[in-house]
Amino acid sequence: MRLIISLLVCSLYHCLPCQSQTNIKFTNHLAEEIIRGNYEVTDYLPSQPIENPTQVVDYLVDNVAADQLKNYLLEMQQFRTRNTGSDTLLSGSGIGAARDWAHKKFESFNQENGNRLIVSYLQFDMNICGLDQHKNIVAILPGVGVDKEELVIVEGHFDSRCGIACDTDCIAQGMEDNASGSALVLEMARVMSQLTFNRTMMFMLTIGEEQGLHGANAMAEYCESNSIPVRAVYNNDVIGGVLCGETASPPGCPSLNHVDSINVRLYSHGIFDSKHKGLARYVKMQYQENLRDKMAVKPVIRIMSSEDRTGRGGDHIPFRQRNFSTIRFTSANEHGDADVHAGYTDRQHTTDDILGVDTDGDTVLDSFFVDFNYLQRNTLLNANSAAMTALGPHAVELVSVEPLVDGFTVTIDDPYDYGNYRIGVRTTSNDFDTVFTTTEKVTTLTGYDQSFFRHYFAAAAVDENGIESLFCNELSSTLLLTSVDVVGNEAQVELLQNRPNPFDDKTSIAVWVEGEVNYKNAQIEVIKPFGSVIYRSEISLDQGMNEIWYDHTNHHFSPGLLYYRLLIDGKHVKTRSMVYAY
Ligand SMILES: [Zn+2]
Repeated sequence: MRLIISLLVCSLYHCLPCQSQTNIKFTNHLAEEIIRGNYEVTDYLPSQPIENPTQVVDYLVDNVAADQLKNYLLEMQQFRTRNTGSDTLLSGSGIGAARDWAHKKFESFNQENGNRLIVSYLQFDMNICGLDQHKNIVAILPGVGVDKEELVIVEGHFDSRCGIACDTDCIAQGMEDNASGSALVLEMARVMSQLTFNRTMMFMLTIGEEQGLHGANAMAEYCESNSIPVRAVYNNDVIGGVLCGETASPPGCPSLNHVDSINVRLYSHGIFDSKHKGLARYVKMQYQENLRDKMAVKPVIRIMSSEDRTGRGGDHIPFRQRNFSTIRFTSANEHGDADVHAGYTDRQHTTDDILGVDTDGDTVLDSFFVDFNYLQRNTLLNANSAAMTALGPHAVELVSVEPLVDGFTVTIDDPYDYGNYRIGVRTTSNDFDTVFTTTEKVTTLTGYDQSFFRHYFAAAAVDENGIESLFCNELSSTLLLTSVDVVGNEAQVELLQNRPNPFDDKTSIAVWVEGEVNYKNAQIEVIKPFGSVIYRSEISLDQGMNEIWYDHTNHHFSPGLLYYRLLIDGKHVKTRSMVYAY
């Protein structure tokens, strides 16, 4: 009976708004004081500060270690399960023993670096799987600059599960999902607590993710209700597996035994002018400009269109819901939403999500499903970007983008007078096509001839150490003398190239409107090459940008060419083509 009640409670996964965490608090009072900025910076200065960004990156490259990550995973697998509702009193297994272990790890890092890492639980009350109280494990590195109140969070969920979310008896080592992300967070805390940053950093292992993102929601709620200025949140979930057939399964990955230890996916919310997509572009730029040349194996960052994999969610979402900038890192070969296909096996959320196997019978694992070198590289990507986010200057704003015949004049508003800026420009992808460097607040960019593309602009400040701020809100423009379709006499309506193009599962289709449109109804249709309409959506046409998402995952067609068109009051206005490339 107890089990049945637990199952009922846990089936409320999609019921997040009607459940909430109460009595959210840090168990270590000092942690709360740090988060609120109530401390003396001089108490947390290191004996040998490393502040130069090149030194910071070199230090990260030299110290983030695959062997350390492997050791965390080997230790975590011993707890049998880290289910949120599992035993809290046993010494060697269950969530209680596991979180004690994580707390002690953070404490040991604190002792290694002069007591500058403040360790605490973030505790909250809520019935999850029959238990009434739960704890995230956090470590806080106090900022020592003028922006010490601002917070940069790196998180990964610590809990694991089997097929039934509240089955607390099954073995759920959860090595890929999500001991991999937990190990990454621990290693970042170990290495980065030796450094010093302008802003405060928090390393957080969350609980209750598998039953509805509860631990992350508790922290996001705490930040919102206490007006904590959160600058960015990096979520890591399923971040170490590379092997199709073990940590991923076709058709979610190309074919059995296919290995992908190069690509990593960044998921984030939004389309045009999304600060989350802006954060993803920042991560990629920081990697390409600071880190790439220093890495022997060079990762490829893919900025995905969706907020998460189809039908799934993660711990970045509660922060996005409260308007904090956030992204999710996920490995390339991963169990996705492919369970409708014959032969598909998903080891996540099963007893089979293990670290590896012993192939020669000597009781020592010798074939690993989580790739420690891949995990090490993904840890570096996080650490590099989190470090620059915690060090960099304030953001600036774009005042205007004025179109010319062959370019654009971009005007930046910078109340801080930094005097150095980056301007990112993109057209059809989620990524920048070009990032310009300028010392002027008013800059003219020329040499453009693709008049049919709408261009999207964002700017960042650069400080005296050469570190960029996060990018500002986007503005968009199209070259002068571009051909536009006229509806009525006042309005100009332009069907834009879809973004991204080619696209994976989703793409944005947008219509730009100058003036006001007189119409009764407008539609976007997606058409196969031989003319059959596979999708139709109403679109409202207001002044400025009007966008819809087209989601291709429900249409089981092979990769290739598709068309889309805009209809206004039944009349065809324009057709464009796009490429689906899974
Ligand atoms: Zn997960």
